[in-house]
Amino acid sequence: MDLAAQAGLYLHVPFCRRKCPYCSFFSFAPSAGDVQRFLEAVRLQMRRLAAAPERAPLAFATVFFGGGTPSLLPVAALAGLLADCHQLFSFLPAEPEITIEVNPGTIDARGLAQLRRAGFNRISIGVQSLDDTELGLLGRIHTAGEALAVIAAARAAGFDNLSFDLMYGLPGQTVSSWQATLDRALALAPVHLSMYELTVEQGTPFAGQQNPWTLPAEDEVLAMMAAIDTAVGHSGLVRYEISNYAVPGRECRHNLNYWHNGFYLGFGPGAVSACGGERRTAVADLPAFCERLRTGRPVWDEVERLDREAAFRETVIMGLRLLAGVSISALKQRFDLDLPAYYGPTLKRLLAQGLLALQGERLALSREGLPLANRVMAELV
Ligand code: SF4
Repeated sequence: MDLAAQAGLYLHVPFCRRKCPYCSFFSFAPSAGDVQRFLEAVRLQMRRLAAAPERAPLAFATVFFGGGTPSLLPVAALAGLLADCHQLFSFLPAEPEITIEVNPGTIDARGLAQLRRAGFNRISIGVQSLDDTELGLLGRIHTAGEALAVIAAARAAGFDNLSFDLMYGLPGQTVSSWQATLDRALALAPVHLSMYELTVEQGTPFAGQQNPWTLPAEDEVLAMMAAIDTAVGHSGLVRYEISNYAVPGRECRHNLNYWHNGFYLGFGPGAVSACGGERRTAVADLPAFCERLRTGRPVWDEVERLDREAAFRETVIMGLRLLAGVSISALKQRFDLDLPAYYGPTLKRLLAQGLLALQGERLALSREGLPLANRVMAELV
């Protein structure tokens, strides 16, 4: 696989109308002038990265506008940023996958039609739940009805490559309310679904919040996971990553590149770029990001150079998130390291415990290993 010929572009929009109390992503409600400052700075960063020597060998297959809430920006600004991507970077001849994340509380049918016309061809909608009580407890700015209306409007606008995000393990959620969300979501026949268990991140208001709602017990969360398996079994969606399901051929190409530990350029404060043997993270602070670009200083807060073995281990761990696992021969070719010899007794034990499985020359998490993925990865890191 030629990773340099299928790199990804990521643009991080750090704005949200209101911060959800469980969220640890870098985003905030913009003050007057922030959007304009962000747009000017990010355009400058794109031009700089386009001229950087380390990006010269890369050809791009995907663009992903994420956040934060990209759909909070004016559609004309989003279209302008996408036009800049096309002007500054070389894309593969095949149609690139161009995704935008949308929060249902921030866009209408007209905006969606404009996004489609601007060239976005994949939409990822943050539905999270189809139960208004759960959405309220999560601090989401939209109702289930608004999410359904945005899904219908996106389809009418011509987005056939449409994904939703759903969450389980939520405060106030029961196995039957999750089943109801799941059934309604699947009845909408998405070609891609991402389903994540809520994790309470330290430092978020949710972690310290004193409220009468408790999270579902572990056995209830396991029952919610089992409900996914049963419901998805009849839907035409196939699980291809720990938390992601797609109609075959509609897997998210942009995220596949991350799981293959490929190359990508990230724009915006807090965004990460990986190319030229380095991984660089831009400062996660809008004023500092703008100031560094204005004065010609590097925007990076962190530059990490992974040696061959660290990059190998990382590639194994990322690849094991995929149900197809990793190819031992491809790893050998890329890193000149033999996976069975490298992990030796640890690998043998994980295979004997039935947490990993060999399928021909591929190594993957087994069905039993999937719910214990974090434990398995911790042994291989
Ligand atoms: S909308 Fe998304 S990015 Fe914004 S605060 Fe909520 S969860 Fe975080």
